[in-house]
Amino acid sequence: MKLVKLLANLGYGSRKQVAAMFREGLVTDVDGEVLYADDKVEHDRILFEGEPLDPPQGLIVLLNKPLGVTCSRKDVGCLVYDLLPPRFALRNPVLSTVGRLDRETSGLLLFTDDGPLLHRIISPKSRLAKVYEATLASDLRGDEGDIFAAGTLMLEGENDPLAPAKLDVLTPRKARVSLTEGRYHQVRRMFAAVGNHVEALERVSLGGLTLDGLPSGQWRALDAADIARIF
Ligand code: URA
Repeated sequence: MKLVKLLANLGYGSRKQVAAMFREGLVTDVDGEVLYADDKVEHDRILFEGEPLDPPQGLIVLLNKPLGVTCSRKDVGCLVYDLLPPRFALRNPVLSTVGRLDRETSGLLLFTDDGPLLHRIISPKSRLAKVYEATLASDLRGDEGDIFAAGTLMLEGENDPLAPAKLDVLTPRKARVSLTEGRYHQVRRMFAAVGNHVEALERVSLGGLTLDGLPSGQWRALDAADIARIF
């Protein structure tokens, strides 16, 4: 693919804007040679303003989502996409969130431009564990673990029982819950079904992937080792 098209697809600008960037000499190879719009060069040899080019299709981004940020492209207030570089919003194919977290849930959120991978991660058939830490309004009663594990809990307004989920008690008002499904407001509704109320919720892991020291509000692109850790 010609470099002008490659950079435009990666969101660096429109074709016209990217062509101007080539004329300004902003795109070089790793040896410092200026590259031109019509050149065809291997992706990992290209630098933009001296920095490696964003990864090609198959990009997966991990964000430590703060509270108060919405998983939407168009909404009022702060959106998760506002926390990523603006060029990510212009990529073709587009970058989408892998499932969603509520505005008032923090923690691990993935984005990808790889549709099949997105579906593999969110499909209940993959049985990938999504782990949440919930801070509760009232002390745990002691029977919640058995109720969640039974695979018979019905949430209000639903026709199918939840798949079994694992609960680990961390303190009397804090628990870790491991799910393989992703129903709407699932953790909050599970605790509501056992007479409690979730005051704070954070997703701490997905498969074997954790936030691993990534500060709140920060993102990083996953490498092959990270991706292998998901599954
Ligand atoms: N369960 C919830 O209640 N909210 C989330 O954001 C994720 C899981």
